[in-house]
Amino acid sequence: MSDDTQTCPRRMHEAGPWEHAADLDAWTTGHGVAGQDSIGLSCSFCGSLHPDRFLELVREGWIVGPTDKSYKAYLDRPATEEDQRARKERWLETAQGQAVRRAAEAEGKTPEQVTEELDRAYRAENPMAKSAGTRAKFYYQHLTLEQQNEFIALYNERRMNVGYPGRLYVLPFFAGPSST
Ligand SMILES: [Zn+2]
Repeated sequence: MSDDTQTCPRRMHEAGPWEHAADLDAWTTGHGVAGQDSIGLSCSFCGSLHPDRFLELVREGWIVGPTDKSYKAYLDRPATEEDQRARKERWLETAQGQAVRRAAEAEGKTPEQVTEELDRAYRAENPMAKSAGTRAKFYYQHLTLEQQNEFIALYNERRMNVGYPGRLYVLPFFAGPSST
């Protein structure tokens, strides 16, 4: 058994036509989404990024992309400030951006109000403006209890960048409301 041998919790706990036994999986390359290998090792069974690497990148400000599944997330590389600025400049020049500006000006708004209006429209039209693209998928089952607690703390203390719509609309299975 090599050092990167592991047991995928999804293999063990989910029903399926595979062997439910330990030590059959590895942390390796060639799985996950396109480009995932460039940021870290992945589970040979389910394609999830390694949990240590996932949390490390979340701490660094990578964007956790909500999904409608309580066990799955995407991880996006954040766009640089420069890229974000350039993207917004380009949008302001589009017919859409120009129309929003003209409409706000026609309503007699002040330059500050026009800028606010443009900011609001830009955010609404470009929910992924802060992302430089999805680089990994992650399955929460791979987190240890301690890592689950850190994830919840990062989220609750708003130290986590969360992708559109800015909150985990389906919470991870370990973070649901208590059943009291
Ligand atoms: Zn796995």
